[in-house]
Amino acid sequence: MKILFLDQSGKPGGAELCLIDIAKPYRDSCLVGLFVDGAFRQLLEQNQIPVEVLATEAIKVRKESSFTQSLSSVTALLPLIAKVVQKARQYDLIYANTQKALVVGALASFLSRRPLVYHLHDILSTDHFSPTNLKVAVTLANRFASLVIANSKASQAAFLEAGGRSDIIDVVYNGFDPQVYQIDRTNVSQLKTQLELEGKFVVGHFSRLSPWKGQHILIEALTHCQKNVTAIFVGDALFGEQDYVRQLHKQVTELVLEDRVKFLGFRSDIPQLMGVCDLVAHTSTAPEPFGRVIVEAMLCGKPIVAAQSGGAIELIEPGINGFLVPPGKPDLLAEVINTCYDRPEYTIAIAKSACEIATQRFHQTNIDRQIADLLSRTFT
Ligand code: UDP
Repeated sequence: MKILFLDQSGKPGGAELCLIDIAKPYRDSCLVGLFVDGAFRQLLEQNQIPVEVLATEAIKVRKESSFTQSLSSVTALLPLIAKVVQKARQYDLIYANTQKALVVGALASFLSRRPLVYHLHDILSTDHFSPTNLKVAVTLANRFASLVIANSKASQAAFLEAGGRSDIIDVVYNGFDPQVYQIDRTNVSQLKTQLELEGKFVVGHFSRLSPWKGQHILIEALTHCQKNVTAIFVGDALFGEQDYVRQLHKQVTELVLEDRVKFLGFRSDIPQLMGVCDLVAHTSTAPEPFGRVIVEAMLCGKPIVAAQSGGAIELIEPGINGFLVPPGKPDLLAEVINTCYDRPEYTIAIAKSACEIATQRFHQTNIDRQIADLLSRTFT
């Protein structure tokens, strides 16, 4: 099957990392069309996935854009749509991986008479989107997509709640290659020394810096923990959240936590960095559509605590393969950190069982098969 994947981003967020894995089995006959150049293009190239930047100018619609802002950007989209239509004629189907890709993909699907798949990586609710963008996404998906792949039951439920058609949507979780998360102990201990984390109880937070990802909740939680509990924050402000970054640094200074908090920026060595952690914390204050980091921690054999909302609830069964805490509650998060600190054997046993379950449940081979089945069921 020849697939034209579309993604609006030049930066490798969760949806983009997922797309790399989905596109791999189709690399001999697919193209990933991007709307902006950036590190994501390089990652695709490193994975031998054909990629082309299709847009000549940036698209200015943001998740919170109003109707008039969205409309005015449509004219800027016209050259891009024309290009996608021309490309699409060489492929069997268009696979939109993001919301702007859905807008472009829907029109291109209509004009090129190629079917459309929409991979929904978002919770379509007003927590994350303006009412206009929500309506646009659901209307276009209902009208033009033959198949919507939701990355969790939570994303599926929000789509249906927003008026999405139930006959076109299926859930497929993100897939992972467990080999990638096998950690080399020597590397980990070198990294621990390099980061000056020896003798510390390390809580890792792996996410772009953004208010709803809740890095501030973990910083606050540290004030309720033992002095040698240290947090590392891995990730950058991918979408211009510089005010939040300043706020986080100010919070660290005000709470006198300079010795217990490290910001490492965006990193590509996630498994090794998880290796230095005693616990991984996921603190989103709004429902997380899936939460790749949760599964990655499990595959690295690390205990995970996550905010009890959205996709996280589907991934974690508390006390069996991780811990859940209500979102936005630093004191309750601290209680879990303290339990893990005080009861390492109990926590390690949970992490071990999480690793076994996740290896089966999210194995890339199983997920590839689910996607291939859905595509062949829908299009043959
Ligand atoms: N990630 C990364 N480098 C970083 C921070 C995060 O590669 O510095 C990865 C992380 O391992 C995960 C993805 O980015 O695979 C984030 O996905 P998630 O579903 O957790 O959140 P999203 O970015 O989609 O909101």
